[in-house]
Amino acid sequence: MKLVLIGPPGVGKGTQGSLLAEALNIPVISTGQVIRNAVQQSLPGHDDLKAIIARGDLIPDERMIEILDQRLSQNDCAKGFILDGFPRTLNQAQALLDKKVVIDYVVVFNLSDEAIVKRLSGRLYHPGSGRVYHKIFSPPKQLGLDDVTGEPLITRSDDKPDAILKRLELFKQETSPIISFYQSLMDQKQLKVIIVNGAGAVTDIQQSVLSQIN
Ligand code: AMP
Repeated sequence: MKLVLIGPPGVGKGTQGSLLAEALNIPVISTGQVIRNAVQQSLPGHDDLKAIIARGDLIPDERMIEILDQRLSQNDCAKGFILDGFPRTLNQAQALLDKKVVIDYVVVFNLSDEAIVKRLSGRLYHPGSGRVYHKIFSPPKQLGLDDVTGEPLITRSDDKPDAILKRLELFKQETSPIISFYQSLMDQKQLKVIIVNGAGAVTDIQQSVLSQIN
């Protein structure tokens, strides 16, 4: 089973991705998390990525496809996976097709710009695990500290106002055309596109998606 999650930043793809991964027993691959880990560990060849992420820009397609290829070649992906944050451009979507990576379901999350800005601007992040909190909607038990490790939480560099606006704009320009691309594949019965309202409760969204997956 192979799924793709598409939606603007902050729509809840990460949360839903982890829940779906548990329910379907397949890994979730967040390309953003893969890159943040590489930057944090100062892996060779990734020095320039930190600045690209901090600006809210996209990593060039060729580079991104190579990073994804490496991740998908790992054993845990053999029986399926959930992609969170890839593809983000038509070129990336086409690359999956060219590589004969057959996607079964594309889950599209919708949310208003206003709600996205509210969610992203209060978001807190635990660098070690990728766990995400929100100052108001989902606060940690202790102010500023991760519930599991007690380590400090940070605001991601790309959750600052300028980068948020940039990411939203890039989603509209570069990523939303992928939705029509996948809808035309659905018309050809190659996959199913599931549309969900990202404003709903986490458990409702989860149930809705699972009920539409065979
Ligand atoms: P995310 O955690 O999905 O919001 O991703 C964080 C950042 O990683 C993005 O703003 C991009 O800079 C980079 N990134 C993640 N996935 C991709 C992708 N598929 N293509 C280009 N850049 C990406």
